[in-house]
Amino acid sequence: MNIISWFIRQFIRKNYKIPMLNIILFGPPGSGKGTQAALLIEKYGVLHISTGDLFRYEMSNNTELGIKAKEYMAAGQLVPDEVTIGMLKNKVNAHPEAKGIIFDGFPRNIVQAEALDEFLKSKGSEVSVLLSLDVPDDEIVARILNRGKTSGRPDDNDEAIIRKRIEVYKSETSPVFDYYKKSDKSRLIPGVGSIEEIFERLSNEIDKVQS
Ligand code: AMP
Repeated sequence: MNIISWFIRQFIRKNYKIPMLNIILFGPPGSGKGTQAALLIEKYGVLHISTGDLFRYEMSNNTELGIKAKEYMAAGQLVPDEVTIGMLKNKVNAHPEAKGIIFDGFPRNIVQAEALDEFLKSKGSEVSVLLSLDVPDDEIVARILNRGKTSGRPDDNDEAIIRKRIEVYKSETSPVFDYYKKSDKSRLIPGVGSIEEIFERLSNEIDKVQS
């Protein structure tokens, strides 16, 4: 983005209070969140934050945070909330110019959802919509094992770890769908079909929020 459009956006946001477009891209591991996020950021010009990607980046650089996250990720468990929430906030704060954010892989439990709401509220903003990609378990396992051939991720290559991640999703993460349902923000999107079909379904829901 060039500097002039950045200033114009800041000016407009400050003076006319344009709401941010904050999307939680939700769904089990391997449901296609990363693939769809890459397309959505192109279309809507928003920032993509994947906590999984941030952890992998920290791990590859052997940072203190990466070292902390490593054992949890290898076991298919959630990294502790205080570590995850702190990292997320830093990333958001590093991008004050963002006109919206796609949260991918966050929030993953109710504590994180509450922290996100509070954090966005402190910025005069809120979650716009939660889009949950619905994909059956067996399809997920097959997709992740397939991705594991090229992703280089140890947690993608072991069926027991994959099943653990699905179990954690069901017990800890899926309640986040109901949490946002209370404010009528949760939408279930069929996550099986071509990439283009799923992208269209997601876009339709986002366009409804924006209109
Ligand atoms: P993902 O790339 O979203 O599948 O995440 C890979 C792994 O990173 C997960 O299995 C967790 O161990 C960790 N992780 C990613 N996001 C979170 C989060 N929001 N809270 C806790 N752990 C997370």
